[in-house]
Amino acid sequence: MKLWWSMELENGRKNLDRILSSGSFSDGDIVYLLSLREEKEVRALAKRAFDETTRQVGENVYFRGLIEVSNICTLNCRYCGIRRANHALNRYEMKKEEIVELALWAANHGLGNICLQSGERQDEKFVDFISECLKEIHRKTVSERLPNGLGITLSLGDQEKNVYERWAEASGNQQQLRYLARFETSNERLFDFLHSAKGKSKTLDRRLRALKDLRKCGYQVGTGVMIGIPGQTLEDLCADIRLFEELGIDMLGMGPYLRSDGGELLKYGQMEPRELLQLSLNMIAVARLVLKDVNIAAATALDVLDSNGRAKAINFGANVLMPNLTQAKYKSGYQLYDHKPSVEKEASSVLEKVVQDVLGSHRKIAWNLSGSSPHWRKRQISNSGR
Ligand code: SF4
Repeated sequence: MKLWWSMELENGRKNLDRILSSGSFSDGDIVYLLSLREEKEVRALAKRAFDETTRQVGENVYFRGLIEVSNICTLNCRYCGIRRANHALNRYEMKKEEIVELALWAANHGLGNICLQSGERQDEKFVDFISECLKEIHRKTVSERLPNGLGITLSLGDQEKNVYERWAEASGNQQQLRYLARFETSNERLFDFLHSAKGKSKTLDRRLRALKDLRKCGYQVGTGVMIGIPGQTLEDLCADIRLFEELGIDMLGMGPYLRSDGGELLKYGQMEPRELLQLSLNMIAVARLVLKDVNIAAATALDVLDSNGRAKAINFGANVLMPNLTQAKYKSGYQLYDHKPSVEKEASSVLEKVVQDVLGSHRKIAWNLSGSSPHWRKRQISNSGR
């Protein structure tokens, strides 16, 4: 793995204040900002990103209650603990009633939004099942407090366009419908390294096509990458940010690359936790400065590196948290990486923790609000003017 801290940085001589006071950033500026690790410099980066967040998306932090619907997956991403080839894992599928019950719990506790996540499947039974869940969730969560029902984010992998359309229709709430599909890295060689398991595999092209299809189908589109992949450079992360820009994404979910016993990449190691945390926080801050008005989630995986990882991410420009509402009996079977936090905790104590995370920052909790990104709202206005 490349020791990126020791890389010679061409832009090392540049003046940090000058870069941070600029409204636009060259590739060299981005690489330089990502490389920061001295406390004083990192504090200056965080402050600039925090202020930019306030200016662009306001002071609110939005919650998306995460429900891990099923750990059955047809794919074999090499880093992932629930990949198809991990036969040591007990597979589960939540029942519709359990999913709807958690959605109601979220609505009753003021979350305003949920995210349904699952291993990737394209079979008709699964597509129908999700449609049925979406219909029922909408029917049961429309109320005076939530006149359009719960906002929904789906994180269900690559699907055909007609499937995205079916799910959008079933949601009954297309104004608050989001889809998260991370491309993990824009470096095709690294992408193939992560996904080149035998048998059915992901391709970067396919994922990018999915993001474009989702946009055509009216979704608020989110993507993201892993930070600290073995062999990844700061230039790769800079290219990731440029691709976010090119795709015009509305939301971002980026997390550290963490090892998994159930994966097959253990021999490549993992960055030292403190350095990985700092690089992840820097990536959030720089993405905020470059992309400005998008929503950025603080990944739960940050809490593996530091028990206050997500709280720190808020101070570096994140404005979305995703408390995991999945019942404890299922959660331990949904570990994409090792040491997933709070696997034994039920929804109420998970919610308590994220509330504390926000209260510890200088932000407000947006109870019962959808929190669509200004980037998406501007897109709607410009589309309607055409
Ligand atoms: S990362 Fe997602 S698609 Fe890949 S194996 Fe894991 S659950 Fe399946």
